[in-house]
Amino acid sequence: MLARDRQRCAYCGEHADTVDHIVPRSRGGVHDWSNVVAACRRHNVEKGDRLLEELGWRLRHVPSAPQGLWWRWRPIEDPDPLWAPFLPIAS
Ligand SMILES: [Zn+2]
Repeated sequence: MLARDRQRCAYCGEHADTVDHIVPRSRGGVHDWSNVVAACRRHNVEKGDRLLEELGWRLRHVPSAPQGLWWRWRPIEDPDPLWAPFLPIAS
C-alpha cells in the first residue's frame, strides 16, 4: 500500500509510514486495496477507529487496485506473502 500510494499520506500528502483502514476493521472494514491507504502516523493515530464521515476527512484520491504493469514487477513464483490475499489463487 505504501508503494502504491508513493509513501504519501492519503489525507494530507505528507510522508506516510503506516497504513490506515478507511473503514476500520473493528467496524467491519476489509483488508483490501479499496479500503487501505497509506497514512502518516499522525493521521493514523488521529483517525483511530472512526469513519471518515465522522471526522469530516476526505481522501486525496480514491484507492484502487494497481493496474497494468505493476503486477509484472514481481515474479509470480515468488510473491511477497503479504500480497497473498490480493493475488489470484493459482489453479
Ligand atoms: Zn497525514
